[in-house]
Amino acid sequence: MAPTPMIQQYLQVKSDYQDAFLFFRLGDFYEMFYEDALKASQLLEITLTSRGGNGDERIPMCGVPHHAAQNYIDQLIMKGNKVAICEQVEDPKMTKGVVKREVVRLITPGTHTEGKSIDSKSNHFLAAAEQLDDGFALSYVDISTGEASSTYIAGAEKSLLQELQSLNIKELVVSEQLYLLLNETAQDLVLSIEPMDFAFDENETLLAECPEELKMSGQRLLAYIARTQKQSLHHIQAFSYNENGQLLTIDFHSKRNLELLESIRGGETKGTLLWLLDETVTAMGSRKLKQWLHQPLANKWMIEKRQHMVEALIDQYFVRADLQDLLKEVYDLERLSGRIAFGSASGRDLAQLRSSLEKVPSIIEGLSSAGNGTLETFSSKLDRCGEVCSLLEAISDNPPLSSKEGGVIRDGYHEQLDEYRYASRNGKDWIAQLEQQERQKTGIKSLKIGYNRIFGYYIEVSKANMHLADLDRYERKQTLANAERYITPELKEKEALILTAEEQSLTLEYELFVEIREQVKQYINRIQKLASTLSELDVLMSFSNVAEKYRFVKPDFNDSTEIAIIEGRHPVVEKMLNKQHYVPNDCVLTDEHNMLLITGPNMSGKSTYMRQVALTIVLAQIGSYVPAESANLPIVDQIFTRIGAADDLVSGQSTFMVEMLESQYAITHATERSLLLFDEIGRGTSTYDGMALAQSMIEYIHEHIGANTLFSTHYHELTTLEQSLNKLSNVHVAAMEQSGKVVFLHKVKKGPADKSYGVHVAELANLPQPILSRARELLKTFEKNKKQPSNQVEQLSFFDSRDSGQDEVLQAISEARVSEMTPLQALQMINDLQNKLTD
Ligand code: ADP
Repeated sequence: MAPTPMIQQYLQVKSDYQDAFLFFRLGDFYEMFYEDALKASQLLEITLTSRGGNGDERIPMCGVPHHAAQNYIDQLIMKGNKVAICEQVEDPKMTKGVVKREVVRLITPGTHTEGKSIDSKSNHFLAAAEQLDDGFALSYVDISTGEASSTYIAGAEKSLLQELQSLNIKELVVSEQLYLLLNETAQDLVLSIEPMDFAFDENETLLAECPEELKMSGQRLLAYIARTQKQSLHHIQAFSYNENGQLLTIDFHSKRNLELLESIRGGETKGTLLWLLDETVTAMGSRKLKQWLHQPLANKWMIEKRQHMVEALIDQYFVRADLQDLLKEVYDLERLSGRIAFGSASGRDLAQLRSSLEKVPSIIEGLSSAGNGTLETFSSKLDRCGEVCSLLEAISDNPPLSSKEGGVIRDGYHEQLDEYRYASRNGKDWIAQLEQQERQKTGIKSLKIGYNRIFGYYIEVSKANMHLADLDRYERKQTLANAERYITPELKEKEALILTAEEQSLTLEYELFVEIREQVKQYINRIQKLASTLSELDVLMSFSNVAEKYRFVKPDFNDSTEIAIIEGRHPVVEKMLNKQHYVPNDCVLTDEHNMLLITGPNMSGKSTYMRQVALTIVLAQIGSYVPAESANLPIVDQIFTRIGAADDLVSGQSTFMVEMLESQYAITHATERSLLLFDEIGRGTSTYDGMALAQSMIEYIHEHIGANTLFSTHYHELTTLEQSLNKLSNVHVAAMEQSGKVVFLHKVKKGPADKSYGVHVAELANLPQPILSRARELLKTFEKNKKQPSNQVEQLSFFDSRDSGQDEVLQAISEARVSEMTPLQALQMINDLQNKLTD
């Protein structure tokens, strides 16, 4: 037997949405069938049932009530699924046979914009990528706010996936080809195929700023959005493209290592630069701050524009406090614009838009009356959106959540609506009067007039008083356990009037509401621009607060590559130290001396010092003040770090290999305008391996790159390099011994460290006493037997008793042109040599 028409319809729709859960509307429920039902009942922990409809087969089925669907949709999406919403698109009363049904929206991890799982303080991007010869084109849009960008990612799939991870992108739209390439490696990422081989002209304006080779990714993204969302999305903004050279590039690992947006362990915000800086008062501001941290600037003019605002706002404490109070009252204009574009904005959303716009004149006034040119200029960028305000005058003060229940349009806005409302209110007054009259006429004090959907208005008399009811006029309608309900012709006549008026009023009101919403749509771009400017203001005020609170200063920029940070601090460590004193340190790098080799015992503060220099640069280049007594800085083009190993464990690669890959990346991409931080290079391999690599890298950077470089090491032997490399200086983080214990001074001083405090640190870590005393003993013997440190690492003394294989190895090492090798080549060579030794 063939399936019933409804099941046929289901199967037909489902065939177009194989990769999604199909929520099939049946009355008040969304039902799922077959595979979907089996999977969903498990994922959502809902009851699995079955039904007939296809011959003898029982069709597995489960469902969720439509009014509670959002919660279930959220859960499915959070678990990386897609949900297709299939609605009844005709009135069942008007049709014979099966009601027509269509998928009205496909909800996916990247297009999901409502619901509890969405964090309003973060952007929620959907991306599309195209493969290029030497990298990828990446375009991404936040559908809830309309922000759109395109960028170019150099390197292989891994770089692409890392960029996606750092933008917290959950869904990537791709061609079938790219799907095959990424499918295996992209684990937590949802890949959606959008087959598309031609470009749409209508999208051309949105992509006008992008270089040609990035456009296709934008086109594919827009095509996917149009197909899944089934509506034109007026709020999608032109794709921004930042030319190389305008931005400070920080690769994924370095962002992590420096804990800009998330901690090294991943996920957490506490302890990050964002955590310190975020004193924004709006969700828009918080998102903007994240974008700025994600992409600091490398254009002096743009940076100084932000800086001037911060300076002006610091000077104007009261203005700032007032402005912050005003901004707190501004709702999320970007997300409101998104809902308006989607046609899903409620009356309440429009009221929120209006009350937000009402704050703008006071914000402009606050900025322009402060008597400060910078603030005044900034105020002129704010658009009052007067046309929108006039449109929104129609909305009542406190509209209900649902826009179809009335109460959205205020009285006095529309004559016809007022008339309907009058009729309905009048009718209700009339009914109240009738109740009084009937009580008097019958003498039944408890008589009342009620209303329900089935019988309309009725007169209710309790059983005890039934003998008093005026049965000449009353017609019995319904009998309850202890009351009777009656109607009268007069009551029914009035009822008809009231109900028609009410219905007409609701219909008209909804029409007016939709019309206003449509008209507001035309101004979405202006509202978005306003939102962007307000969120900038929010971030800049946050910078001012932070600068004041943590004693930051305004950095100056020079046109060279010289760094002069006086009494600099690591702002996050300082905040974490709470009441303890943070020891400030200078960092001065000049054209003559642009490399520091940092030595000192573990835990003395080497890596904190290096990070603080990088954070100072990042802070300066997002327009913020910096934690120092003074800072004169270059504009840095890229920051590379090789710090710590915490994140490597996750990726499954050996720590040492990751260390080498990151070093390779840094060394091949760095320019003389870059900042390089290398923490304890070579730690992951045997001492001489590590030392040789560390030295060859230092030499290579010194000779071929010339970037500002901080290099920390525990190889004291390397400190002799100061004699052969003229741009390198030794510094050490001081510690001293007090009654047999180590005391960290955290002070960076000239020259190499003189002693290793390893044993003391072990003592601090509470290693058992017998181990510590044995170590002290051994240390004494080692120190007695120690030869003078050799000047050249190549002449190390571990080949004292050697055979011919070792001779060969030694020869190879002495002939190697280390300064011409890449670290990977060096690594390869060491590997070969090791093999020789073990042969
Ligand atoms: P290293 O890299 O030398 O092993 P770290 O940079 O990790 O040492 O520093 C160890 C700890 O010392 C930090 O967690 C911090 O609490 C403290 N510290 C580092 N630098 C300073 C400083 N300048 N002032 C005060 N405390 C510091």
